[in-house]
Amino acid sequence: MLKIAIQKSGRLHEGSLKLLKECGIDISNGNNQLRVRSSNFEAEIFFLRDDDIPEYVQDRVADAGIVGENIVYETQKKVTVVEKLGFAKCRLSLAVPRYEQYKDITDLQGKRIATSYPNILEKFLKEKGVQAAIHTISGSVEIAPRIGLADAICDLVSSGSTLFLNELREVQTILHSEAVLITHPQLNEEKLAVLESLLFRIRAVNKAKDNKYVLLNAPNHCLPQIIKLLPGMRSPTVVPLAEPGWSSVHSVISENDFWKVIEQLKANGAEGILILPIEKMIL
Ligand code: ATP
Ligand code: ZN
Repeated sequence: MLKIAIQKSGRLHEGSLKLLKECGIDISNGNNQLRVRSSNFEAEIFFLRDDDIPEYVQDRVADAGIVGENIVYETQKKVTVVEKLGFAKCRLSLAVPRYEQYKDITDLQGKRIATSYPNILEKFLKEKGVQAAIHTISGSVEIAPRIGLADAICDLVSSGSTLFLNELREVQTILHSEAVLITHPQLNEEKLAVLESLLFRIRAVNKAKDNKYVLLNAPNHCLPQIIKLLPGMRSPTVVPLAEPGWSSVHSVISENDFWKVIEQLKANGAEGILILPIEKMIL
């Protein structure tokens, strides 16, 4: 049995549950329980405060957990990051009042910086040779400059709207973060086997999200060019259409170069292009 800790409530909660669900792991937590045994997978899910998860994993209260990388680096517990999960993307950044001048990090020399991430910030400032007073506060860091508590802040940012509303300007990114799967560095064979199975499913789900299934029609003389544009999993499937001289081509393309490839396909004679989402992808 693999004990997996996820956030009880907050920004990681839904994404974590959704991922487990997409992996076919059934967990019904109707009664808002602290721990729930999956009915169809060798796992027990613990619902905890995300900041505590690395410590619980280090202490073997849980074998694995889903947390933001920011929490992993800040808490400095002995855990292994096994997989990036692709959601809850954000960055840890320095921000200063909007009209404050800022050329580079040396402008923070001797200043007061408010943050909930004192360890990451201290390491960063040390690397840059800047000395500043770090004020650790646990929440609402963005109001610190306005109430005179700090000259700058170091906080998580995604869209930047919180900074904007608080008349702050993001000036430097310290860390990019996303949700990750962490585990205790030493798991027994039985737990490792469950972890392997979980990882296999997570990778199939996330790989599918990065790719699209594409179907198109093309005159046969255009096929060589089109096939070059569509590498596919091994190579594209080509089937003849009922109309002589035409074929249908099926393949998989990466979300990243999706629009570029579609334009090139059209320019090279493709017609009737259909794009479908992929649910799972196993290479
Ligand atoms: P608490 O633990 O007190 O509930 P928290 O700030 O740790 O507060 P959330 O706000 O739910 O909890 O954030 C959980 C995680 O979600 C963060 O540690 C981070 O990894 C991620 N995250 C993604 N986008 C953002 C964002 N815009 N602001 C804050 N965190 C974000
Ligand atoms: Zn938290």
